[in-house]
Amino acid sequence: MRLSQAFQPTLKEVPAEAQIASHRLMLRAGLVRQSSSGIYTWLPAGLRVLRNIANIVRQEQDRIGGQEILMPTVQSAELWRRSGRYDAYGPEMLRIKDRQDREMLYGPTNEEMVTDLFGGTVKSYRELPKMLYHIQWKFRDEIRPRFGVMRGREFYMKDGYSFDLSYDDAVRSYYRIMLSYLKIFRRLGVQAVPMAADTGPIGGELSHEFLVLAPTGESEVFYDAGWDEIDWDSIGLDPQKEEDLQKLREIVKTTYSATDEKHDLSTWENVPEDRRRGGRGIEVGHIFYFGTKYTESMGVEVSGADGAPLHPHMGSYGIGVSRLVGAIIEASHDDAGIIWPEEVAPYRAALLNLRPGDALCDQLCESIYSRDPEGLLYDDRSDRAGVKFNDADLMGHPWQIIVGPRGAKAGMVELKHRATGERSELPLDEALAKLGLA
Ligand code: ATP
Ligand code: MG
Repeated sequence: MRLSQAFQPTLKEVPAEAQIASHRLMLRAGLVRQSSSGIYTWLPAGLRVLRNIANIVRQEQDRIGGQEILMPTVQSAELWRRSGRYDAYGPEMLRIKDRQDREMLYGPTNEEMVTDLFGGTVKSYRELPKMLYHIQWKFRDEIRPRFGVMRGREFYMKDGYSFDLSYDDAVRSYYRIMLSYLKIFRRLGVQAVPMAADTGPIGGELSHEFLVLAPTGESEVFYDAGWDEIDWDSIGLDPQKEEDLQKLREIVKTTYSATDEKHDLSTWENVPEDRRRGGRGIEVGHIFYFGTKYTESMGVEVSGADGAPLHPHMGSYGIGVSRLVGAIIEASHDDAGIIWPEEVAPYRAALLNLRPGDALCDQLCESIYSRDPEGLLYDDRSDRAGVKFNDADLMGHPWQIIVGPRGAKAGMVELKHRATGERSELPLDEALAKLGLA
């Protein structure tokens, strides 16, 4: 994309309404604009990030047998009356009426809808297990929307649902998802610790939240230093392997972690004092096993091996895709701006032409740009070099390819690595090879 033509509004001023770094940077870097309280428009660069995150989630869910569907945002109240949650959900649910005076709602989550879908389709134990997921906008009329997309009213969530025949199978699905989530968060460049959590209005008995540690997080967290020390690469991270699931269960059992809601002082006291870690965290994911709560209340059963009907065991699994954009920035920024992890970045590199109009610079830039017009953001504006450097740092591209008149003459470009600040002057070929553009 050529920056001179892009819809990429950056702000020099720090927006007054933004209280935390990620919110300020998302506005300044031109990723989102607020439309009304807790509701945002995603601008091109922000949308690229959102899609990159969603695609990583998608790949990892597919890898463990998830099948993607897309359920609607608007649901009928009738569905929620069947589970008993229509009245229980409270004022966070946006309730609407259609022209026939039928009660509808904008979905805050999809347990009812997916259970109904499953019940209408799957009839025999032979068809289980099933894991369905979708990535869809949700609406919750939060009492205090704040921190930009971190606590929005409209937000983008991956919600997945597992259906198993027995408790044991369902718990295995639960830990398979947990392992898959740990992998997703690592690919996203954040450390997220699973923590025992309350099940809240979803109900159920087994639940973990995934928290990214950040001083601006809304939850207080307590955990054993073991979580910081686990070398996930060496213990193997294969959610398909039974023994890896066992290893994970063992780690979860023996390595304390909890949010304030579930914090248990007597267990905490068993953690050696110098191993106790605390602080604040941002909830980026939440998983539940809730057994037959919805299949029973909504009358969903399949025929078992002996012919007798049984209620499948369910779990539900959420990842806050739009919240993650903010959480990643909270975990990865400096005074100059965002530092995007490679897999998430809107562009793989910025290409800075320091002297547009100079024939050599223009020619060199065009030849680089033509190698990947989709993945490069070409700063071809007639602005001063300082403006270009500042904007590139602010937007946080993993790499900057800097082309100036002196280097261009010698066929050299400068490469800057955003995360380390390292700069090096290289012959064009070497620079291209380093960025996978050769
Ligand atoms: P919270 O405790 O932060 O209100 P929750 O427990 O109500 O979240 P879940 O129902 O577990 O949320 O939703 C799954 C995920 O969706 C959360 O882990 C979070 O990442 C994301 N999420 C929930 N509410 C919001 C929101 N208002 N804005 C952005 N993301 C959200
Ligand atoms: Mg939650």
